[in-house]
Parts: sequence; structure tokens; C-alpha cells
Amino acid sequence: MTISTELARRAATLREQINHYNYLYYVADNPEVPDAEYDRLFRELQQLEQNNPELLSPDSPTQRVGGQPLDKFDEVEHALPMLSLDNVFDEKELSAFDKRVREWLNSDQPQTYAAEPKLDGLAISIRYENGVLVQAATRGDGARGEDVTSNVRTIRSVPLKLHGEAIPAVVEVRGEIFMPKDGFEKLNKSQLENNKKVFVNPRNAAAGSLRQLNSKITASRPLEIYCYGIGYLEGMERPESHSQAMQQIADWGCRISPELQTLTGLEACYDYIQQLAERRDSLSYDIDGVVFKIDDTALQDRLGFVSRAPRWAIAYKFPAQEEMTTVEDIEIQVGRTGALTPVARLKPVFVGGVTVSNATLHNEDEIRRKDVRIGDTVIVRRAGDVIPEVVKVITSKRPDTVREFEMPRQCPVCGSDVEREEGEAVSRCSGGLFCGAQRKEAIKHFASRKALDIDGLGDKLVEQLVDAELIKDVADLFKLTAEEIAGLDRMGKKSAENLVNALQAAKETRLPRFLYALGIREVGEATARSLALNYPDLDSLMQARADSLIEIEDVGPVVAHHIETFFQQSHNREVIERLLAVGINWPREERAQVNAAVSGKTIVLTGTLEQMSRSEAKEKLLALGAKVSGSVSKKTDYVVTGADAGSKLTKAESLGIEVVGEDTLMQWLTQE
Ligand code: NAD
Repeated sequence: MTISTELARRAATLREQINHYNYLYYVADNPEVPDAEYDRLFRELQQLEQNNPELLSPDSPTQRVGGQPLDKFDEVEHALPMLSLDNVFDEKELSAFDKRVREWLNSDQPQTYAAEPKLDGLAISIRYENGVLVQAATRGDGARGEDVTSNVRTIRSVPLKLHGEAIPAVVEVRGEIFMPKDGFEKLNKSQLENNKKVFVNPRNAAAGSLRQLNSKITASRPLEIYCYGIGYLEGMERPESHSQAMQQIADWGCRISPELQTLTGLEACYDYIQQLAERRDSLSYDIDGVVFKIDDTALQDRLGFVSRAPRWAIAYKFPAQEEMTTVEDIEIQVGRTGALTPVARLKPVFVGGVTVSNATLHNEDEIRRKDVRIGDTVIVRRAGDVIPEVVKVITSKRPDTVREFEMPRQCPVCGSDVEREEGEAVSRCSGGLFCGAQRKEAIKHFASRKALDIDGLGDKLVEQLVDAELIKDVADLFKLTAEEIAGLDRMGKKSAENLVNALQAAKETRLPRFLYALGIREVGEATARSLALNYPDLDSLMQARADSLIEIEDVGPVVAHHIETFFQQSHNREVIERLLAVGINWPREERAQVNAAVSGKTIVLTGTLEQMSRSEAKEKLLALGAKVSGSVSKKTDYVVTGADAGSKLTKAESLGIEVVGEDTLMQWLTQE
């Protein structure tokens, strides 16, 4: 085979593959591969065609936009085509784009760009005649889209009527319809509970929700819009710049991105990319990059467009949050409460900014539902700090050699029987504290920051102590001597002494911490706090029956049952007695004096405080009846900022939430 026939074949294969993926993504709303894989194939084809122009044909997917509109919707011919965007993946490529723009414009001046997030949803064109919404259409293949007017009317952030004075005879407002992250989580949860299709990501959920024949379904989905341009316009002068167009759209009552900025020169663009990338995870919606547009409309017109994308705009893509890899094995992890969690061991893959080699599969049902088998190629998602997840199996890539996973009948750590209670998804080892894994996890939990906070007792050390049989349970910790500890690998005399001192110090604690540290199933920090307030005397809590526990805020029937069972088991009672005998103690827990300024308010702490640590401030605020949250949302009442406050402060400002300093915090805490 000559080189050119080989290349022609490769190009044909790529086209076929890309067309197939386009169909699944744009038409069926059911993508098979992650965007990163699609982008790689698309780039390869683009480069092949660029280097071998004889391979280029007008029907190549590199020359076309999106996919065919679906028959089930009426077709809408766009008055002006809806284009795609070319992509760049790093600063070098962005700088090459900027250079091309300046060459075309014959300018050596730094260019002014409008920058905005690249929202990960789907494009929409909304036509207003004399200010009234008359039609909304998807992008389709760029020339013809689908009529989804009745569905778009159900989206609250889309105005049905434009307001203001300068209303043109006809205007097409263009934007992106998307589903915010929390709405997506809720939707998937309810889909799962109702045995319905679970969506792979927010973009897929938005597309599936908008392209419904029944607009009642669309109305029930949490869709939102940000507008980012004007299409066809009649009866009014076109605004002179993109930023003016955005201001005009906003004046009409359409929602535009609060992140929109105009920037001059590449350095400013790089800064914008960096600051948005840092805030990517804290935004309430998914973005997959930044879009830069030449701001000046006259320059945009001079630049024009090529087959599928304008020459005056570019999408700078962020690193992918979804990637493709293979499941090399499925192993079992045994947790503190004996839960057996299947974990996929993956061929390491770079995704969401880190190399991922494990992903939780949650439980047996989840594995069956997703039909994950050992040897499968899967899509792994890692967004922000969220634990990596296998979102989907690429069944077309399944080899014959795959193996199905079976939940072991015996605990892989201690050999005890594995049990799965009726109606529960989780399988558990029945070995209790006899099981080494549960013992280790229970001790790690006991020592952790929100529990007894034992300085210097990290996970590795706990494992060493258990393996060396120096401790069997948490009470044994307090009998450890510096000599015993110093005998362990990589432990010096000094660090052993420090640990003994830290153990001494940890004996002075608070009842909520102690209760949380015991690791009773489903008793988190908040429940432990409620328990301590209602039962300041540990003895009475240990005697309490489920029907009285259920009276407490935060405690439902399941938790009440777990608490009662926990305290009834003799080995738990015995460990508690020994803990008290070694001197663990706490001041009596008083019902907090409620402070009117903060009681019932949701407060977020950010940055470094000078007078106390954030966790100390949190405990004090909780005691005053406040709720303390880790992230800023519309529900936040105050954000308290210390030094070097970062994205939470920015978010608070963008949401208009009251920001206070440490002095106000101190006033709250010291007010009688
Ligand atoms: P695109 O998503 O890369 O860029 C164009 C689109 O960006 C516009 O149509 C608009 O909807 C959107 N957009 C978001 N914010 C915007 C803003 N502020 N201003 C202007 N536009 C904005 O292009 P595309 O042609 O829609 O899709 C191509 C991409 O879709 C691929 O790069 C890939 O990531 C994904 N894709 C994936 C598969 C798959 O199988 N996984 C298949 C096809 C396409």
C-alpha cells in the first residue's frame, strides 16, 4: 500500500468514526466516547487534511457543524447560520491564533477580545419579533435546527418578552442552555430511584431535557441560559462591539454571563484563563474552557468565517474532566463499618488534572447497572475534588475476554462471612472489630481531625501499629509507650514522644467529638452534636432506646437503630469503659446560648483567621446556633474572610452576599 492510500484510508476511517460519534452526541444525546477522545480524532483528521489537501472533501465532518436535526421536531431554517468554534488547547496555540488574526487584519496592535466562559450545554437561537418570543431553535447542522419553542418557553431565565425601549422588529438572541451541577445531581438521583436513564454529565442531561417532545418533562428539568450573541437582526443598527451587544441583550432582560470581560492583549487573556481555571470547580455550572471573540464588530466582519467556524473567535479548552481507560481489575476495600466497596483498578489515566488509577464502583448494584466488567474500556470522570467515578462502559470496545465481577462471600481481609441485608445495597463483613480492616479504619477515624484530632497519628502509622499488634482497638492507643512507638519503622525517639504527648492532650475533648470518634454508623458531626446536647450525660445516651432517640433533630429511625445497637454491644461498651478509665474527659455540654445575630444563619469561613483556627471558629459558631457551610451559594448569609481568601470570596461578591471580617466574627463570638 502506498503512503497516500494508507493516509486516505485513515482519513476515511476517522470520518466514519467521527460521523458516528456526532450522531450519538448531537442526534441521540447519548455520547459513546469522552469529548477528549473525540477531540483527538477530530484533530488528527484536521491535520491529515491540512497536510494532504487532496484528502479534503466538503462532506468531511471537519467542514460541517453538529448533526442532522431530528425528524420528530419541526425544522427551522436559521436566518443566519449557527456556527461552531475552532479549538486551542494551550497558550502557544492561542498565541498562534492571535497572530493569524493580526496578520489577516494587517495589524501589529494588541487585539481587544471579549472573554467569557465556554459553557458546556447546547446552543439555542431565540427569535423575538417586536420583543415577543416567537421561536426557539437548536443549532442542528448549523443551517437547519429543531423547533423547540414550547420547551424553551418553560425555562424561567428565558424572557418571553423583551423589555426596555430599543426593541428591534426582529432579533435572534443566541445562547447556551445548560443544567447547573446541583440540578444535575438531583435529576440523576431521582432518575435512578425511578429506574430511568441516568445522564453521563450535565451537558448530556441538558441536551436530553431540551429535546423532549413533551414540554412538561422539559419544564420539570432545572435548565438555565446564558446568552452570548445576536444572530439575525432587523430594524436596528448592529451594536459596534460584542460587549455592547451583550449590554444591549442584558438591557432587554436576557441573562448574560457575569464573567464577561473585555481584554486587550494576550497577557490579559492568559490571566483570564488562569483565574477562571482556578474557579472552574467552584462555579455552579460546568464549563469546558474560555471563548475569546474579537470585540469590534467591524473587525469581525472583515475576518468573516470559514466552513464551520468564525475566524474572529476561538475556544480555549480546559483539560478534560472525562477520559477513557480500561478496568484492569475490580478489588474490594473494607471500610470502618465493614462495608465492602468494589474499586476499579484502572490503567492510569490523566484526567481532571491528576493521574487516576482507582475509581469507586460503590456497590454490587451499581456495577450491574453500569454493567462494568474486568477488561472493559470505560469513561472516567473526575471533576474538582470529587472522587473519580466510572460513568459509563464503552460497550463497543468490549473485548471477548472480559470477566464479570462477583461479590466475594468471605471478607477478603478476615475471612468472615459477607452479609447483605434485605433492601440494602451494601454488602458487609460480619467480622466486626475482629476484622483487621475494620479495626484499622475505625482507629484512623478515631484519630482524625474532626474526631479526637490526634496530632501525628496518620493512616500509615495506624496501619503499622495494628500490624505490629501493638494496638487492637482505640483504647489501646493510650497505653502506648514512647519506646514501643520508637521501635517502628521510620519513627524516631522524638516523634514517638510527640505522639505520646499528643495522645495525652487528646484526652481533653468534647462530647460531640468523642461520640463522632466512636464511629457509630451514620453518625456524622452534626448528629453527634445533637446527641451531645440532648444527652449531655453519656450513661443516659448509652441506655437510650431508639424510640426516644428518634425525637432528636437529625436522628431518623435508621440512625436511631444504629445508635441503640452500637451501645448494646458489649465490646463497644467495654472499649468505652476503658477509654474513660484512661482519662478521656470533656466539660459538660451546655445548650448553647443562642446568639440572635448568627442563629439560623448560614455562614462560610474562608482564608486564614488570626485569632483561632477555622475549625475552632466553626465549632463556636455552631454552638451559637449558626449553620456553617463549606461552600458559598445563594443560601449563604455571611462569608467571613481571613487573610488570603480566594475563590469563595469572589463567589460571595458575585452573588452579592454580605462579606465580613474577623472583627465581626469576634463580636459574634463574644456577645453575651
Ligand atoms: P464546541 O462546543 O467546541 O464550540 C461551539 C459551541 O460552543 C457553540 O455552538 C456554543 O454552543 C458553545 N458555546 C459555549 N459558550 C459559548 C460562548 N460563550 N460563546 C459562544 N459559543 C459558546 O463545538 P461543537 O461543534 O458544538 O462541538 C464540538 C465539541 O463537542 C467537541 O470538541 C467535543 O468536545 C464535543 N463532541 C463530543 C462528541 C463525543 O462523542 N463525545 C461528539 C461530538 C462533539
